[in-house]
Amino acid sequence: MDSAASSKDCKRKVGKQLLQEQPSTSSTPDEDDEDDYAIDGGDDSTNDYSDSEAETDASVPADSSSNNKRRVSFQSDCDLPGAVSKRLDLGSASAFFNGLTVSPREQRSSSLKAKTRSFSPWRLVSKCFYGSSDSLPLLATDRSVLEKSPSLRRPLDFDYLPNFCRNRPEAIVSDEKQPFLRPSRFSHVPPTIRFYLYGEKVEKPKRAIRRMLRWCHNSLIPKVVRKCLATSHFYIVEEKLFWIGYWGRHLKSSSYRHILPYQKVNHFAGAFHIGRKDRLWGHINRMSIKWGSDHFNLMPFTYVLPKDSRHLKGVLTGPNATYLILKPPASARGAGIKIVHRYQQVPKKTPLIAQHYVDRPFLINGAKFDLRLYVYITSLNPLRIYLYEDGLVRFASLRYSNALSSLSNRFMHLTNYSINKTAHENGASDRPVDKWTLAKLWRYLEERGLDGNKLTQQIVDLILKAIIGCEASMTHHMQQYAACPFTSHELFGFDILLDESLKPWLLEVNISPSLQSGTELDRAVKGPLARDVLNLSGMNIPDKQQISVARLIPHSLPVPSSEESLDYRVKPLEALVTEREKAKREAHVAHFLQTGSVLPSILHDLTSDDVRLLVDMEDEWDRRGRFTRIFPSPGTTRYLKYFDIPKYANLLLDEWMSHYFYMRDSGCRRLESLCRNKFHFAQSPDSTFSDA
Ligand code: ADP
Repeated sequence: MDSAASSKDCKRKVGKQLLQEQPSTSSTPDEDDEDDYAIDGGDDSTNDYSDSEAETDASVPADSSSNNKRRVSFQSDCDLPGAVSKRLDLGSASAFFNGLTVSPREQRSSSLKAKTRSFSPWRLVSKCFYGSSDSLPLLATDRSVLEKSPSLRRPLDFDYLPNFCRNRPEAIVSDEKQPFLRPSRFSHVPPTIRFYLYGEKVEKPKRAIRRMLRWCHNSLIPKVVRKCLATSHFYIVEEKLFWIGYWGRHLKSSSYRHILPYQKVNHFAGAFHIGRKDRLWGHINRMSIKWGSDHFNLMPFTYVLPKDSRHLKGVLTGPNATYLILKPPASARGAGIKIVHRYQQVPKKTPLIAQHYVDRPFLINGAKFDLRLYVYITSLNPLRIYLYEDGLVRFASLRYSNALSSLSNRFMHLTNYSINKTAHENGASDRPVDKWTLAKLWRYLEERGLDGNKLTQQIVDLILKAIIGCEASMTHHMQQYAACPFTSHELFGFDILLDESLKPWLLEVNISPSLQSGTELDRAVKGPLARDVLNLSGMNIPDKQQISVARLIPHSLPVPSSEESLDYRVKPLEALVTEREKAKREAHVAHFLQTGSVLPSILHDLTSDDVRLLVDMEDEWDRRGRFTRIFPSPGTTRYLKYFDIPKYANLLLDEWMSHYFYMRDSGCRRLESLCRNKFHFAQSPDSTFSDA
């Protein structure tokens, strides 16, 4: 890329009017269309069950475990809009990154130390707590007792979950100017950009920083996201220019090679492993065979067609014939879905999944409904999963019946909003279809004496197992394609159906859950959701060296100061791990493989790499907004065994949570004492020492 030309280009504000609607295209759903985008929108999204050969790869690889070295065919990749895949002629991100790591900045350490201290929240935040009163039902007295005797730690289960989905009131929009940056909890760790709801007044950062606040143009950026970006002074630029954030369709695998270390995209390479219905079932079925169906009875039993046709024939022609629901493996919004009860109704060659139909769902006012939960993964290795405290309850528009004659009635059997919102207009229903927040469902259950807490725990268990089942394949894919793992993050929409006994069933996981906000209720849920996702993603101001390496901004222009911008030596990166750190990793993983438990000594001699991982997790917690972290947490040690390949970082974070969850002050003090001395900086080849 010609540097002079590009820097000139950089000044052009292509999408200055962030709030202006993007022109709708055929691939852009209506603003008030509730539902999600198909993964590939390809041939398999057809409504037509003709036997024509669809191009889609519907079969789950026989060996879909992480040991599978075979390159996974990536037919679920969506076309990357425009030039994101092609735009950079700077070489791969990894080459670019290598250039960055060789530039120590110790020369200015003394001034840096002095300046960075102003970002330390130790003097700004008097109270260090893990859960504010709204999130952790832990009394101050409990905490002080626990601080003194860690052995009194609580029974480890999900009982620490905050009032999940019981809706806290949104903070009132303040008249005061809000800070633009959020300092890290620790010294010598760069701050992150803060995002707010539309209407908040946010301090204008200095010009050197404002010039970096560029977001990649994409016609699918939801309005709620655009509003948050505008409030924090971002503007939208063409894909080929300098930008630091992207929100849109998932990218082709090869495009991840070109994502630069200071950029953030809202997808993981390999997310199709969880987002395609056939792949998801493949992983869950594999786990069910390995661990027993008691542990992994998460999804209604599914057949992947045409591979499983013979098995399906046996089911539909046998004595216990049942209803099955046929779905395209990578579609959305109820497209191409049909309920069948005879084998003759099943297309023989079309790639589809056939799933046992949950024909006795839990009903509210006689109608079927499903839940949309928002699950956010900030990192795959180590795995960190957050669950949003609110979500949506989406109803069918007609009273439910499982009579054979009703099976073709989509307004009765499907709960997609995009289908049911048309029932009233079509005259099929006498009133517009209802949509609730999850908070309202929780109240409804409580009023009827039903056990919402048990349901919450079952749902969390389902989410964790589904993600862990797909984790190895996704991580493998990320390692293959993404130069920097921290450039990806992803919000998933989990669709869950409750049966008449209130057991949750996973129907699918959407990798592009709609954030369209056509109704007041949508805006109330999705506005704060978008803000919290952006905050949790942890966007940094790029470092001036990166920008000058990329030659995107001429040297003569002002640049952000070093304490405001990112220094990659504090990022958890495989490339920065020393030999000695690798030896520690191997020893602990080997012990876990042998015994199934984590050695407490993993916390004794923290290495620089350990501190970087822990600092990342602790800072992330402070930015969580209405999200709750469900992995790792004190209740999730028992899930470590389900990982196909144990990862050191997961063991470390798990032990940290088990040890410090109820005495976070101590844990953070320990990390701060190391960060103050820049121990977390990756620099010396052998920087292990004991701080214990
Ligand atoms: P899509 O991605 O096209 O929305 P889903 O798997 O979410 O496909 O299914 C659409 C709707 O069909 C769901 O919202 C639900 O109401 C209904 N449905 C799907 N699978 C089942 C099932 N196994 N049993 C009962 N209802 C189902």
